[in-house]
Amino acid sequence: MSPLWYTDRSRFMRGFECRWKRLLEYHAFRDGIVGRGLATPLLTGRYVHSALESLLHFVKNNEQAPDIGVVNQLLVKVLQSYQEQIEKDAAASQDEAATQLDLVVGITHAYARVVVPYLKEHFRIVDIERELSWQLPDSNIIWMARPDFTAEQLLGGELTTHDFKTTSYWNNETGPLQWANSAQMMANAWAVSQTSSRPLGPYYMHMLVKGNAKYPNLLTHAFYRPGNPPLVKEEWQANYTRQKGFSRVRIAAYRNLPEWIWEADTKALGEKLPVVGPYPAHQTTCASFFRGVVVEEKWWQEQTEFLDGVDWNFEWPRPEFQKELDEHFPRTYACHDFSGRKCQFYSLCHKQPGWVDPLAVGSHLRRTLNHPQEGGKK
Ligand code: SF4
Repeated sequence: MSPLWYTDRSRFMRGFECRWKRLLEYHAFRDGIVGRGLATPLLTGRYVHSALESLLHFVKNNEQAPDIGVVNQLLVKVLQSYQEQIEKDAAASQDEAATQLDLVVGITHAYARVVVPYLKEHFRIVDIERELSWQLPDSNIIWMARPDFTAEQLLGGELTTHDFKTTSYWNNETGPLQWANSAQMMANAWAVSQTSSRPLGPYYMHMLVKGNAKYPNLLTHAFYRPGNPPLVKEEWQANYTRQKGFSRVRIAAYRNLPEWIWEADTKALGEKLPVVGPYPAHQTTCASFFRGVVVEEKWWQEQTEFLDGVDWNFEWPRPEFQKELDEHFPRTYACHDFSGRKCQFYSLCHKQPGWVDPLAVGSHLRRTLNHPQEGGKK
């Protein structure tokens, strides 16, 4: 049998958006590249995960619920490391960097305040960010997964799988439908069941609504009316108000953001961090999903065979090589999303200045490997 082939949910899905997206993000320039311009929001997602991971370890190991002091302490290292990373990313403006940093702080404190009590009431946390992998039957394919955490239900003892998902927008009516029958999420639950020898349990999604530049939310921004001491006190409102004199401001520029979060209305905070589920995971759907994974990944193995040992720096700009890539990997050319944002590889596919050497010009960075197992592949 040929050498082991490593895959995961993200690259499997990326290939269906556009073959070139997966090619560039996971296979080109050895282990793939990512657009530098997108690095900041992506980085925020990663650091939010990291902060929540520390928080969950605290919850797992302590009877007491985390308070504002504990969360501030847990955030010190995460924020320091985030700040260092973000400073390296020339694509982030100062304003953007500050807001992204606030998001990590705001989401973590709000999660500690409104979601942790729910978790403590209903679950016992079992594993946090545990790497799972197993070989799919009759294939050389290793499926890698890392659910954000698994937890046993206090009532009934069922093992459940939980994933965080940052999103700009959330609708309580339609949002939950997005995750029902999600074969990708079932695959995580399946991985947990396979590697723990426990029955296949349900999954939950922990949505982290971060808003966007146009519609930031109360985790980072609020409406403020300056005071005129000693006659008029300053005023704050979490939601939009027509009252005169109010304008939307970055909370941390005026006051202590963690204190704002711990004083805010818990219902309003909860709306920014909805936990949806339990969603049942079905054996038949999982089996069907993985049969499809084997077919798809075999295609990728065959199509990428000619890339083994390629000197990307030399070959990439050559027209013959570009033609060969076209012949192996059809593109969708659906290069803008619904909000008009460009695909991270737009400058490469559309041969814009610098496309011939994306790593040297700094438009793109090498991808950070998602799982330690994939380090030795190919
Ligand atoms: S820029 Fe367009 S063609 Fe290129 S990877 Fe993105 S979606 Fe595909």
